[in-house]
Amino acid sequence: MNHRTIAVHGGTLRDRATGGINTPIYTSSAYAYMDREENLYPRYSNTPNQRAVEGKIAALEHGQTALVFSSGMGAMSCSILAHAGAGDHVVMLDALYGGTHHFATEWFAHFGIECTFTKTRAEDVIEGVTPATRVIVIESPTNPLLEVVDIRKIAEFARGKGITTIIDNTFATPVNQTPLDLGIDVVVHSGTKYLGGHSDMCCGAVVSSKEKMEKIISLARVLGPCLDPRLCYLLERSMKTLGLRVRAQTENALALARFLSEHPAVDRVFYPGLETVPGHEIAKNQMSGFGAMLSFELRDRDPDPFLRKLKIIAPAISLGGLETTVCAPCVTSHAKMTKAERERIGVRDSLLRLSVGSEDMEDLVEDLGRALE
Ligand SMILES: *Cc1c(COP(=O)(O)O)cnc(C)c1O
Repeated sequence: MNHRTIAVHGGTLRDRATGGINTPIYTSSAYAYMDREENLYPRYSNTPNQRAVEGKIAALEHGQTALVFSSGMGAMSCSILAHAGAGDHVVMLDALYGGTHHFATEWFAHFGIECTFTKTRAEDVIEGVTPATRVIVIESPTNPLLEVVDIRKIAEFARGKGITTIIDNTFATPVNQTPLDLGIDVVVHSGTKYLGGHSDMCCGAVVSSKEKMEKIISLARVLGPCLDPRLCYLLERSMKTLGLRVRAQTENALALARFLSEHPAVDRVFYPGLETVPGHEIAKNQMSGFGAMLSFELRDRDPDPFLRKLKIIAPAISLGGLETTVCAPCVTSHAKMTKAERERIGVRDSLLRLSVGSEDMEDLVEDLGRALE
């Protein structure tokens, strides 16, 4: 079934009492236990709204099962800790989302986990693996330089060694990339971004086989980052338009990437859909669309006056909403690093990251064009 159909119908729980076509909201935190197979409880993530939206997310990612969380970091930290413990080794890209990176640098030692950070090429990731490696964590495209990681190659290598692979699929979304089809074991989302899509909720999700989910569910049930049924309903409702939104945003992003790459005030554009970027061929192989995130460097100028001249595009942190937003990684996601460290990983002070929304493309081009003059 096409993702647009799944986005609308997947997981929906029909209301037998009234015939209403949307999933009703079940607010109970206390459920009868007699003559039942399973005890329902929100922290167990087995109440009707949790199950409904999990069904939709699992179907979209072509996975057997899904689990929703109260944040993307809840989803990521539980997925890692469920599969790596004391004495184990984890390989991670150094270009991972900042929160995931901090989790490793600030907390892995506490759990007795060792970690190696690598560059994004599959060969670099594979070189980072040791006999103690239990988990590999990747992200593609990466933040903020939109580098493309060869997902198939890494997944295939890890399968052979019995290593669990985790991918953060937040940027691509299942509309543009389904990593389980490429051999990845566990897909993680910050639902706060595209799945929610309206910049008004915080949630996360994990999708995998039932086998890989066993430990993740067991850990999540004791750590407790469950998603409230009311938010599950909002997420389910928001995701009905996921296919429409992300398709429109992806089309806008390609058009803006082309516009910016031809603009004299712009030095470089980073977008997997441009034929000129290094990861384009791999992206074509593993993505059905190139996503709605892009970055660019301003030529010889301070980003501040440019940002202040924008009228439609808002300088804001976070991403994935219907509204186009822009942020300077050097003062937001990468502010904790020194300038020298940033330069080493290719994040210059003139770099700006755009989360492209669903506005009319001509209006966005006009806004950017005027601010770039
Ligand atoms: C925002 C984000 C996260 C963390 O999600 P939260 O919902 O903020 O916990 C993880 N990965 C990526 C790529 C993100 O953009």
